[in-house]
Amino acid sequence: MQDRWDDGEAARFDGAVGACVYGSRLIGREPTLVLHGGGNTSVKAPWEDVTGATIDALYVKGSGWDLATIRAPGFAPLPLQRLRDLAALDELSDPAMMRELSAARLDPAAPAPSVEALLHAVLPHVAIQHSHADTILALTNLDDGEQRVRELYGDRVLYVPYVMPGFDLAKAVGERWEGEGRDDLLGMVLLNHGLFTFGASTKAAYQAHVELITLAEQELERSAPLRVPATDPLPPADPIELADLRRELSRVADRPMVVRRHTGPAARALAQHPDRERITQQGPLTPDHVIRTKRRPLLGRDVDAFADAYREEFARFEHRGRTELAMLDPCPRVVLDDHLGMLTVGPSAKDAAIAADIYHHTMDVLLRAEALGGYRALDPEHYFDLEYWDLEQAKLRRAGPPKPLTGEVALVTGAASGIGRACCDALLDRGAAVIGVDVAPQVVDAFDGPSWLGVAADLTDQAALDEVIRAGVDRFGGVDLAVIAAGVFGATTPIAELDRDAWRSVQAINLDATAAILAAVHPLLGRAPRDGRVVLIGSKNVDAPGPGAAAYSASKAGATQLARVAALEWASDRIRVNVVHPDAVFDTALWTDERLAERAERYGLSVEAYKRRNLLGTEVRSADVARVVTDLLDPAYHATTGAQVPIDGGSDRVV
Ligand code: ZN
Repeated sequence: MQDRWDDGEAARFDGAVGACVYGSRLIGREPTLVLHGGGNTSVKAPWEDVTGATIDALYVKGSGWDLATIRAPGFAPLPLQRLRDLAALDELSDPAMMRELSAARLDPAAPAPSVEALLHAVLPHVAIQHSHADTILALTNLDDGEQRVRELYGDRVLYVPYVMPGFDLAKAVGERWEGEGRDDLLGMVLLNHGLFTFGASTKAAYQAHVELITLAEQELERSAPLRVPATDPLPPADPIELADLRRELSRVADRPMVVRRHTGPAARALAQHPDRERITQQGPLTPDHVIRTKRRPLLGRDVDAFADAYREEFARFEHRGRTELAMLDPCPRVVLDDHLGMLTVGPSAKDAAIAADIYHHTMDVLLRAEALGGYRALDPEHYFDLEYWDLEQAKLRRAGPPKPLTGEVALVTGAASGIGRACCDALLDRGAAVIGVDVAPQVVDAFDGPSWLGVAADLTDQAALDEVIRAGVDRFGGVDLAVIAAGVFGATTPIAELDRDAWRSVQAINLDATAAILAAVHPLLGRAPRDGRVVLIGSKNVDAPGPGAAAYSASKAGATQLARVAALEWASDRIRVNVVHPDAVFDTALWTDERLAERAERYGLSVEAYKRRNLLGTEVRSADVARVVTDLLDPAYHATTGAQVPIDGGSDRVV
């Protein structure tokens, strides 16, 4: 591990808390140390109170903050003596501990303190850095794990067997420190959990971290260099097969789940490993991962068997007299299949991406541990415990209710600009994962984040369409919603002067591609965890055509007719198909300033007046259309199919 501490950089951060912010970011930027919340830091420094009194305080990382991007307000200041008094109690439930920690905050605006706050308080050191380093997990998830780290670090660190994070862990560490603590100790290894390092300053604690992790890295490189067994590349997955599996996963989860496919070398090696049952079914690298990955992946595709085993495990809790907790859904979060590779599963694309990050690290550690004599996970009796779920469930409750389209997957064409792009924006905003397609290459980066997949493709080409579907289903597991917004206007030409090629190119995009897309998505829409839904962006021209727009008007009328037939044919598959007819939406690629000026002039109006030339005298924007489209996709419209909704400010030629 490289020492990235730079005194010049560090000087830009103010005081002891500032140094802790800087050191935390250095730790947070190492993905092999800290993944999605695994790790925390603290510093003990005075708090000056409003009366001028100075209180000895612990500034500890608050929940909801990421170490890589933390700022000073991400640390919760707590009175040190109060924490030590709490830690001296004989017992305290974790929910009670969390309540006490929250109530003890010296600043009520500070975030809820880390669940490991008491642990930081019972240690005497000024600065503490803690990570869930892959190297420590690789070395301690072995039969002789404790012995190995002892040989590596000798008496420079303290060794503590696994205890669930919370009050009991603080207690265990406090007792261990009383008996064996020494000022010259560099840190503490929590077996199957991670590393704490200490220092009189954050710089010292950080550099102790670098030193100890580097030793572990060297030891692993020496005794178990990461060698991913060679396997053949996996063939492309059949989208229907993946969508079927996603439907099963969503059924046991009782909500739509996003499923993401991974086919890298480690995923293939583990999915096809002859010993995969023994290696993967023991348990996670550290119990912290359970909330993201569950205790074990599903091997193969028997989702019901996985769910049954999960329910049985949960039932064991009830014997302990605690029944008030809701069981999290029994759906696996990681699936290993010898044909599909690794699938990660989550109630949102973000969750599936986080599970993937964690399991990619897990696979590396599993393969390494195998080289060291065999992976040995912590005995579940040590952690599959209710207190754990108390804390995790409190976290989930804080997250609030999910957005209405969470877990659903939308395909949007014409996604780079105008109405298509606005629909993507609105769908992402309502929680959907979105596959955005456009012939314009800027679609790839039109949005970012785990819920977005932008694909540049010409959908008049059947092979390109098939490839879009394959890539989209690999990324999110299916297609539940389709918004067909790709369209061109073509040149304004009287029928008498029609150019055959120009006519054909408008039909190819507006009509032929619409038919091809509908045909391609139908089997996926029929496998949607909720009902499948389609919205076609039609046009006011369907009911009120304009002279000179023959190709456009005819193509949109044809596409509308297609959608009506689809509504008839697919109702029994529980797929709803509706059409919106926007008019005079000028913030789209169809409308250049030139065309707008020319059109306004033809009507003898200013551009501004022309834009509002409708019964309501209102301007219609792409975002207005997108809102109606996402409403039509919403379950609120579960009883509406075959409808055509004008979004045109009211037209006396249509009403
Ligand atoms: Zn930890």
